[in-house]
Amino acid sequence: MRAALYYGPGDVRLEDIPEPDPTPGTVKVRSLHNGLCGTDLHQYFVGPMSPAPLPTVVGHEFSGEVVDVGRDVTSVAVGDLVAIEPLWPCGACAPCLDGDPNLCWEVLCHGLGGPGGGLSEFTVVREHMAHRLPEGLGPVHGALVEPMSVAYRAVLRAEPHPGDVAVVFGAGPIGIGAYLALRALGVDDVTVVEPAPERRPRRACSTPRPPTWWTRCATARTGPGRGSSSTPPASPPPSPPRSVSRAPGAAS
Ligand SMILES: [Zn+2]
Ligand SMILES: [Zn+2]
Repeated sequence: MRAALYYGPGDVRLEDIPEPDPTPGTVKVRSLHNGLCGTDLHQYFVGPMSPAPLPTVVGHEFSGEVVDVGRDVTSVAVGDLVAIEPLWPCGACAPCLDGDPNLCWEVLCHGLGGPGGGLSEFTVVREHMAHRLPEGLGPVHGALVEPMSVAYRAVLRAEPHPGDVAVVFGAGPIGIGAYLALRALGVDDVTVVEPAPERRPRRACSTPRPPTWWTRCATARTGPGRGSSSTPPASPPPSPPRSVSRAPGAAS
């Protein structure tokens, strides 16, 4: 089967590798959609994210279809559409035993040094890593579950309440996820600060009113090296996209 293999900084190759088979307690998935995030870029430009021997298969934000299951697997079945939780915790260290496998001292990440990745035709994960998607969600949604879960979890830790005022710094995918999570939790007054000009017209901020949008975002430009002018441009900036301003439930 084909797979994208990471050999080191700037070196990713599409090659043929053996197709994996499920073992007891694991699930074989045909990859359908895979996202690339900042961690993937960091690995590509800077170096491996784990001490695992190279090459490793790329891709940790992905969805797929279950095509085979190992013995004792009960929570998913062949044909299920699943989102992958990419962590391989050891199950034996103190954080794992405390119920915090994400803090595992020995954790491996599928697609970042773990045994396989989403950018391959097939991959095998533990049963608990494969989450069946609800009716109505497709493979693209499934590939977004991992990054959106990061954002949602971060927002939950801030314990927001309806009527609160919130600011999200950064309009990358996680920042947008934080915005959507806040809106879903009833926080309507959300400002997203994004200093990168190429992101601001597209991702923008929460309010649909361009002048307010500009004023709020402009405060992010007053730091060293970003200029100090908060004067609005001669022509108003593009309106934020409706999809960002809508209630999260309406976003697609
Ligand atoms: Zn990621
Ligand atoms: Zn552990």
